[in-house]
This record gives sequence, C-alpha cells and structure tokens, in this order.
Amino acid sequence: MTEQMLTSNGSAPATMRRSPLLASLLGALAHTLVCWLALQLDFFREGGELFYQIIAVVWSGYLGFFACFVLGLNRHFRDTSMTLPIMLWATFGLLLTAYYIDQVRLCVMILFFAILQPGVFRLRFPSFVAVSALCVGLYGVIIWRLSVTHPEALDMTAELIQWAVFTLITAGVVVVAAEISSIRQQLGSRNGQLAGLVDRIQEMAIRDELTGLYNRRHAVERMVKVREMANRNALDFAVAYLDLDFFKRVNDTYGHNVGDEVLRSFAALMGEQLSGRDFAARLGGEEFLIVLVKSDLENCAQLAERVRSAVPALRFASASDLSVTVSIGVAQFSAGESLDQLLARADDALYKAKHSGRNQVCLAADGATTSETEEGTE
Ligand code: GH3
Ligand code: MG
Ligand code: MG
Repeated sequence: MTEQMLTSNGSAPATMRRSPLLASLLGALAHTLVCWLALQLDFFREGGELFYQIIAVVWSGYLGFFACFVLGLNRHFRDTSMTLPIMLWATFGLLLTAYYIDQVRLCVMILFFAILQPGVFRLRFPSFVAVSALCVGLYGVIIWRLSVTHPEALDMTAELIQWAVFTLITAGVVVVAAEISSIRQQLGSRNGQLAGLVDRIQEMAIRDELTGLYNRRHAVERMVKVREMANRNALDFAVAYLDLDFFKRVNDTYGHNVGDEVLRSFAALMGEQLSGRDFAARLGGEEFLIVLVKSDLENCAQLAERVRSAVPALRFASASDLSVTVSIGVAQFSAGESLDQLLARADDALYKAKHSGRNQVCLAADGATTSETEEGTE
C-alpha cells in the first residue's frame, strides 16, 4: 500500500479523511441495500441482470475515486478532497437506479440528502445549488420519460406529489446551506483579519518600533540559534557592536526628533550593507548590533569599516549641518564560548574604540584580551 493510502499508523491519509469518499462508500452501501430490497420486492422493473450491471457500474466509479486517492491523482484537482465529482457520481448512481425502480422511487431519491450533506460544508454555494438543481431537474426528467415509455408503471399524480415534496425539501436544504455558506464566509474573513493581526503582533514583538530593526530579545534568540549552528558545524560567525558617538549632544543641540531621525537613517544604512541571513538589531538607545552568519573577524571588520566610513556622509532633512560618527567593536565567535562572553568581548573592543578617539573600528582578539587592529579616519 502506498503512503498516500495509509499512514504509518494504518489510518487513512488526511486528504481521504477530509474527503466525503468514505462517507459516500457507506452511502453507496445503503443505496445498494435499498435497491436490492426493491429488487426482492419486485419493484426493480428490468429484473436482476440489469440490477447487478448497474450496481457494478456505480461501484466501479467509487473504486475509481478510491484509486485516485491511492495513486495521489486527487492532488491534480484544485479541491483535493474531490467533493464535487464524488457528489456528482453518487447523484448519477441514485438517478440511474431511480429510473428502474417503480412505486418506491422516493425511498431511493431520499438518499440524495445524505449525498448533499458533506457539500453543505465543503462546496462553494453556487456548486451546491447546481448539484441540487441538477438532481431535482433530472428526477423530473425521469418521471416525464417514464410517463412516455412506461405509462402503465406510473401513478402520475403520486409521482408528481413525491417529486414536489422532494423539490421542497431540497429547497429547504439549499436555504440552510446558504446560511451556512454566509457564516463560513464571515468566519473566513474574520480568520483572515485575525491572521493579519497575529502577523502584526508577532512583527511588533520582534522589531524595534523606531528603526524597524530586530529588538534585543529577538536578536538574542536568533544568536542562540546561530551559536548552536556554529558549534555544531564548526562555522565562523562574528558580531559588531556599534554605538553612535556623542549622541546625547545631538539630542541636546538639535532636539529629540532629530535624534530619532539620525537613529532611523543609521539603521537604514546598516540594513543596506547586510544580506542573506545576516542581521542588525537595536540593543537600546543608540547602541546597535550586527551579526554576520558564516563570517570571520576580517569580513566583519570590513563590513564594520564600510558602515563607519559611510555614517559621516549621512544627511538629515531637519538638520542639514549635522554629521554623526559611530564607534564599532568587532568580535569573532570562539567555539564553546557563551554569547555573553562573545558580546562582552565585542563591548570591550567598542570601549577601546571610544577611548581611542571614537569614529573607529576596533577588533577583539581571540579570548578575553582585545587589541586594536584597524583605525578609522577621524
Ligand atoms: P558616547 O560617544 O560615549 O557613546 O556618548 P553618547 O552621548 O552617545 O552616549 P550617552 O550614553 O551619554 O548618551 C546616549 C543618548 O542617547 C542619551 C539618550 O538621550 C539618547 N537616546 C536613547 N534612546 C533614544 C531614542 O530613542 N531617541 C533619541 N532621540 N535619543 C535617544
Ligand atoms: Mg553613544
Ligand atoms: Mg551608548
């Protein structure tokens, strides 16, 4: 048996469980039983041979659907549960036998409401109405056809009353289906709104509102994963700790709004320098972090230098004469060390950059000691 047919614990696959096929097979059993009883009671007009031929045709159709699920052919349908074709086939089987059963035709046709049931929840409303109308119409055609070919086997008044009752009940089911369809639509749109809201909340939980960069908590979560990957696969990764120079003065001189504009512009500049799985985060205030995945100290230092040298060229709409600089400490992850140790080394390197005159990149040496290896232009 293929995986499509049975899962490892022996149950039917999800698409088949969601499909009306299993329910339809039970319905087909009931249909066969009713027809067989009609045959035994001499209501089946053409006798046993045709009865068995019709039942064989109906069941071969169901086996065809079953084979579709087994072979995975249902995946080629937009609706992989194949609800509409299964319902149409069951309706066809019902009408075929109804044509040959006299007097108790309604007993067979009543099974149509069992066929409709899964469609209430699974079909689009227009398809549901189409199936219902098709069945009511063809039931009428059968009565008309029999009135022409076998008038002796037909009590026309009784047949028309039964047909009218069947049509009324079908119309009632369609009204209920319309209600359910509208509820489904409302639920669908509410679910869409909720999903959008959840996305927004998730985004707000991981991002810094002012700059749009990751916040500290999410940066740490991501770094934990990067560290695990680096330890597992013996990969390099490096971090850069960035702190804008004399930022308090910017606020004091130009105001808090200009300070915010500087933070946003600086964040955008960092973002432009990053690619792939590398990311930047705002740790708080005017302190930022860049994490370069699969990167060594040299690569990270080059990127840090690109950022540092680009910052003084940033221009701000509301303070045209303002120019800012940044100090950066860079550290490469040493296998086995904790994130705290790595960030502490990067912070030490940043401290050194600050105390060596700012506007420069300093590299942390492997281990606890830091050493200056690159100096920026002042
Ligand atoms: P240093 O070169 O030593 O880093 O000096 P600094 O002035 O940049 O450092 P300090 O820590 O003294 O000042 C940081 C300032 O950042 C103080 C605070 O008002 C400002 N700041 C923190 N968060 C924000 C913010 O969200 N917006 C604005 N505009 N300013 C902020
Ligand atoms: Mg600062
Ligand atoms: Mg600071």
